[in-house]
This record gives sequence, structure tokens and C-alpha cells, in this order.
Amino acid sequence: MEIIIGRESGFCFGVKRAVDGVEKEVSSRGKLNCLGEIVHNEVVVKKLMDKGVVFVDNIDEVKDNEYLAIRAHGVPEDVYKKAEERNIKLLDFTCPKVMQIHKKIKEASNNGYSIILIGKKEHPETIGSMGYAKDVYVIEDISEIEALPLFDKVFSIVQTTFSLDKYISIEKKLKEKYSNIVCINSICPSTRNRQEECRKIAREADFMIIVGGKNSSNTKKLFEVACSECENCIIIQDENDKKIEESKKYDIIGVMSGASTPMETIDKVVARINQIN
Ligand code: SF4
Repeated sequence: MEIIIGRESGFCFGVKRAVDGVEKEVSSRGKLNCLGEIVHNEVVVKKLMDKGVVFVDNIDEVKDNEYLAIRAHGVPEDVYKKAEERNIKLLDFTCPKVMQIHKKIKEASNNGYSIILIGKKEHPETIGSMGYAKDVYVIEDISEIEALPLFDKVFSIVQTTFSLDKYISIEKKLKEKYSNIVCINSICPSTRNRQEECRKIAREADFMIIVGGKNSSNTKKLFEVACSECENCIIIQDENDKKIEESKKYDIIGVMSGASTPMETIDKVVARINQIN
């Protein structure tokens, strides 16, 4: 049996920066509020809660003068305003690449462009980015383009963890509809490399294991990529999932993880595969 582990597995730069930052801050403060789950990964969230992190859904749940960490996904602009008004001290771990998107949306909007944001509507990064302009249209599927109105000036940008394949076809269709559109492909290189490597491994493997949180959209996209190349794929959160036992039926096993899964979990999954086999 051979196990191929994706080199791009484990936390991406932005998530690692946020998780390490929150871990360091809670160690020195004893308690720390964090706006939303730091990553879509129950194991990581539980570990931080045990250390004293309190995950809140809304800044209104935080008391005046307290500290509040912002995760890598970023937040709408009004969160900064509310924090200032109530002297809530922000520890901002928004990924610099997501901040770039906020800046570009704001600039384009100030220059009179209508904004098309390509991304999952419920994803926190999309919700955050929407808060940097008034005129934002969010689409997540090519079929939604037809219903979009005509604009004088239009600008499109994409969620950092969106599927590259889907984005390419959406961009093509947008350019057919709007001849003067300015399209920015802001899919993060880390996401692109991970999806490309996943595809390559899935072509070679008889069995693909995608490791990641149940609610992680980039993990779900990796699973879709794996399924397009390999007939036998599973998605698991960690080494305790019983589905991992299916690996004993196969010779070449590929392992890849989403951006919200620590390397520690991959190591445990690989150890479990070796144990089963
Ligand atoms: S996927 Fe890229 S943009 Fe998104 S948090 Fe990670 S490093 Fe930042």
C-alpha cells in the first residue's frame, strides 16, 4: 500500500496566522472573544474554547472595553465602526489577501462601479466583503448571471476559496454579457494550488480521503475535485471516522486536507490508515 499526502495539506497561511494569533492572545489574557468560529473545524474550535476563547456570533454580544479577535475571513466595515464607538479593542487577524479584496471593492464602488461578488452567499468571507460597498450583487452559480441587471460600469471579484473551475466559466459568461467588465480573479494561490494538487493525486489514487470540517466550503470543493478524477472518495473530519476503514480495500491512497485542518490531524489520519492496513 502507498499513501500519497498532499504537500499543500494543513492550514493555509491566513488561517494559521489567525489560529496562532488567537492562541497566543488567549494564553496571555485568560479569556478572549472571537467573532465567529475561527475555522470551520470542530477540533480546533474546541481546543481554543478549552483555553478560554469565547466564540460570539455578533459584536453586540461583547461588552464595552473588552477584546475581540477577528478571524481570517474578515468582517463588514460596520464592525470596525461599532467597535470604535464602544471602545471594543479589536485584534484583527483578517487575512491580508481578504483585506485586499475589501480595499478593491471599496475603491471600485467609490469610482462608480457596481460590484458582482462571486462567492458562496452564506460564507463569512462573502458576508464580510459585501460590507464594503452598497451596490453588491452576489452570485455563486453561472445560472444567476442572466437575472443580473445591465450596468454602466461593472466590476467583479471572487471569494478567495471559490472553485477555480467554476470561476473560469462564470468569468467567461460575465465577459459575454458585459463587454466592459473589469474582472479580478482573487482566488487565493493557496486554494488554487491545493485544488490542482488534489486533482493530480486523485488521478493516481484508487481511494481519496479528503480531511476537513463538515462546514468548510473549501473542503467540500476539494471533495468535488477529487470525485471528478477518482471513483472512490470519502470526506472525513478526523481519524475517528469509521469511513477510513474502507482504505484497506485499496492500494494507492491519496490524502488531502482543506485549509482549515491542522497538519496534526493529517498525521493522525495517516497513522490510522497505516494501523488499519
Ligand atoms: S485561503 Fe488564502 S486568502 Fe483565504 S485565508 Fe487562506 S491564505 Fe488567506
